[in-house]
Amino acid sequence: MADFDFDLFVIGVGSGGVRAARMSAQYGARVASAEDKYMGGTCVNVGCIPKKLFVYASHYAEEYRHAEGFGWGQASPPFDWPVLLNNKNKEISRLNGIYQGMLDRAGVTHFDGRARIADAHHIAINGEVVSTDKILIATGGWPSIPDFPGKELVISSNEAFFLKSLPKRSLVVGGGYIAVEFAGIFKGMGVESHLSYRGPLFLRHFDDDVRAVVRDELHKKGVKLHFDSVVERIERASDDSLIVTFKDGEVIETDLVLYATGRKPAVDDLGLENVDVKCRANGAIIVDDEFRTSESNIFALGDVTDRIQLTPVAIAEAMAFSSTQFNGVRKLMDYDGIATAVFCQPNIGTVGLTESQAREVYAEVEIFKSTFRPMKHTLSGSDEQNMMKIIVDKKTDKVVGVHMVGSEAGEIIQGLAVACKAGATKAIFDATVAVHPTTAEEFVLMAEPVA
Ligand code: FAD
Ligand code: NDP
Repeated sequence: MADFDFDLFVIGVGSGGVRAARMSAQYGARVASAEDKYMGGTCVNVGCIPKKLFVYASHYAEEYRHAEGFGWGQASPPFDWPVLLNNKNKEISRLNGIYQGMLDRAGVTHFDGRARIADAHHIAINGEVVSTDKILIATGGWPSIPDFPGKELVISSNEAFFLKSLPKRSLVVGGGYIAVEFAGIFKGMGVESHLSYRGPLFLRHFDDDVRAVVRDELHKKGVKLHFDSVVERIERASDDSLIVTFKDGEVIETDLVLYATGRKPAVDDLGLENVDVKCRANGAIIVDDEFRTSESNIFALGDVTDRIQLTPVAIAEAMAFSSTQFNGVRKLMDYDGIATAVFCQPNIGTVGLTESQAREVYAEVEIFKSTFRPMKHTLSGSDEQNMMKIIVDKKTDKVVGVHMVGSEAGEIIQGLAVACKAGATKAIFDATVAVHPTTAEEFVLMAEPVA
């Protein structure tokens, strides 16, 4: 090992890479890292963090309206996009510095630049070649946009975080996390917001009740939903508008088209042809339980392996990797019961199986469901509905799925994920005394199954 410059070279300092570099160094490894764009990766720069700040920003419009019923008069001030953009950029710069500081304090040798694998033990970076015992590929993913006439006129979520001005009209194409989040962000900021999804109902991997409630709530808020809708071409008109023609003949005019049609693993120009690292057809690096690729000293984790593309998953994988490789304690990742939130408005919070998945796995399931108008909206005037759902394996009484659509669902689901991880039964939910008056209390008050 001593013959190498480093024990570990981490390519990509995003959610997974920064944690793996820092922890491995803290366990005593001599670690180097490389990052060619931005410290902290997607989550910090063009993902979770700026997205959540935009969600907060866009939600104020509704809050101002709701405040009227509580005696606050009609006080909706105009929205100032440059103020939000500047403040967001300042916050991200602060976080970039924090990530750099973490690596420095852990003693990681960091390279600003693009790393390329020269062979199984050598990395080319900034014109030099360094040697390393192990390599960790944590290069994340990149937006994937299908080919069609007019593709060059659309943006991805990357650019949406840096728009010079807010458009008057927007179209988001896609039906996953990013599409529903951005359709809500644009709507809240006062932009005419359209969403086009190729299937009959978006959020394909979510519980059917969740999908239906989100559809209804977005519709009520004025997001124009186009289902079974496929873009055929996009052209720029003489007044700079974008003319979008759909395959069914529908045409809409807009100012901005955001494609949110998934992300592909970032493996281009990484030098994989110089090593024996096997990938799936979409470029995702194939790894075993210990994140080892088919090249025995090269590892990969996070979005580049295209399993569950979430920041806490990349971080947990990084901790398991570092512990196994550099702390002598073998840790494996448990992918069961990972909670997730979609920050559409209202939020989705979900953990465990959907109803249809549970029906495939278990002989008999019980469904508890509650749909209601939250107390706040008795005075706000809003007719927003919350939906909460618990799925129980009847034989063991174990709660195998919990789903919510409602404000703060993202916050509420975390505690329920702990309960599910601990193996909570419905009887334990029932024996838990409610916190009143809250929305979350409904989770311990659903007495009778609906199915
Ligand atoms: P990344 O964070 O993408 O980091 C990879 C890094 O590698 C990048 O910084 C890249 O520049 C660098 N890199 C690539 N190639 C090279 C090279 N050859 N040399 C040097 N550096 C290189 N997840 C959540 O859990 N919650 C959310 O709310 C959420 N919101 C999201 C919103 C959006 C718009 C997007 C796009 C994603 C969101 N995600 C969210 C997903 C989350 O951001 C990713 O799952 C997470 O960032 C993956 O971490 P990673 O370490 O695998 O890769
Ligand atoms: P998703 O995988 O969530 O959704 C992609 C959407 O695009 C799907 O609706 C898919 O349709 C559709 N699609 C795929 N290919 C095409 C195509 N060729 N033409 C038309 N539509 C297409 O990806 P996102 O881009 O929304 O987000 C990437 C990942 O980032 C997410 O999966 C998630 O893991 C992570 N993320 C997490 C967030 C959070 O935690 N809150 C927020 C944002 C992102 P279909 O369903 O029919 O295949």
